Parts: sequence; C-alpha cells; structure tokens
Amino acid sequence: MSLTDTCIFCKIVEGDAPADFVYQDEHVVAFADIHPQAPVHLLIIPVRHIPSMAEVKDDDTELLGHMLQVARKLAEEHGISETGYRIITNCGAEGGQVVFHLHFHLVGGKSLGRFA
Ligand code: 5GP
Ligand code: ZN
Repeated sequence: MSLTDTCIFCKIVEGDAPADFVYQDEHVVAFADIHPQAPVHLLIIPVRHIPSMAEVKDDDTELLGHMLQVARKLAEEHGISETGYRIITNCGAEGGQVVFHLHFHLVGGKSLGRFA
C-alpha cells in the first residue's frame, strides 16, 4: 500500500481526490479547505509527504520558506494582505492535527481575534 492509498492530501496532489487548487508547482500545492473557518481558508502543502512539522529535516529549510512565500502571495491574491491573516500549522495530537501531511492554513477575511 502506498501513501497515495492512505493520505488524503497525497491523493489530492496525485489528482486522485478532488480539490479547488489555487496554486501548484513542482514542490508545493495549495487548495481551499473543505470546511472553511473564515472567508479565506487555504491549505498550503508540500508535494512530498512529510507527516508534520515534527518530521521536517534541516534540509527542508528552503521548502518551508517557499511554502511561506506561497502563503504570502496567496494572501495578496485573495485580498487579505492589508487587512491581515493568520498562518497556522497544527502539529501532533495535542496540537490538534487531524491530517498527517504537513500543511499551513492561511486564514483571513474576518477578524480572527487574539490567538489562544
Ligand atoms: P489539521 O487539523 O490537520 O491542521 O487540519 C486539517 C484540515 O484539512 C481541516 O481544516 C480540514 O477541514 C481539511 N481537510 C480535511 N480533509 C480534506 C479534504 O479532503 N479536502 C480539503 N480540501 N480539505 C480537507
Ligand atoms: Zn501525504
């Protein structure tokens, strides 16, 4: 059994599950969250399966930077750069992670209040 059989985000990357893509390149894809928590709620993920921030390697620094740059550009494209937004990654059980393929939530378009 491959990851594509078990991981929903790998399936989305492979085109085996549907998603509303807003960005795609060799290393990173982004698509709308299926249960949006705000007017803008996008998920930015690496093409390569990395389970969470806890499994990121030192060699992944460039990839992480790229994911953040994609998030910044998507925020601009979706008109929330000026009003503000939040980038979140939930990590592990106590971090509230549900899908174990690394992803950054880009959330905005309404007042999010203070974190925690
Ligand atoms: P986590 O709690 O792991 O940080 O968040 C996972 C996110 O993935 C949730 O916000 C959830 O709504 C979203 N999600 C889960 N399954 C799917 C799916 O099949 N398609 C899309 N577009 N989003 C999903
Ligand atoms: Zn995956």
